[in-house]
Amino acid sequence: MKTGIYPGTFDPITLGHLDIVQRSLRLVDRLVIAVTLNSHKSNTFSAEERVEMIRESLAERNLDLEVEVFDGLLVEYARRIKAQVIFRGLRAVSDFEYEFQMALMNKKMAPEVEEVFLTPDQQYIYLSSSLVKEVASLGGKVSDLVTPAVERRLLQRLGS
Ligand code: ADP
Repeated sequence: MKTGIYPGTFDPITLGHLDIVQRSLRLVDRLVIAVTLNSHKSNTFSAEERVEMIRESLAERNLDLEVEVFDGLLVEYARRIKAQVIFRGLRAVSDFEYEFQMALMNKKMAPEVEEVFLTPDQQYIYLSSSLVKEVASLGGKVSDLVTPAVERRLLQRLGS
């Protein structure tokens, strides 16, 4: 059985993230969505809220996947849950440099774990959690960028 991890901050999960989830599911039997604590980053939503929004968004699509919070080294976490693959999304050029650097470092630490980069549907190529938050805080419409569950929480937290 092939297990994959899709790690990220998911602050909050967007339709771009969900696009990557659905692509990843075609390639593995089990997919764990791993929410990074990122205690050094100032996130809009707590780890618990980010997990809840992921669960609600998956439920809206009838997807039943494991969602976990993790801290520390991703490759150690991958080993612990016996994952063979790490999935990351690649958007426009801006992601490449950072992702490439991380992938090489991960490969050095855990050569047995393969990293796979997936590109989303064109409509999501410029979509990011921070863009969604900016639009929501300015009163813009985010219903075609996130699920209804996330939209509700964004309006509660950032809406004026
Ligand atoms: P991180 O802080 O780990 O980059 P993010 O939640 O921003 O966490 O992103 C998690 C992963 O999802 C990253 O690999 C990122 O490139 C990818 N990703 C984010 N938004 C999109 C999108 N719109 N389309 C495709 N991949 C995306």
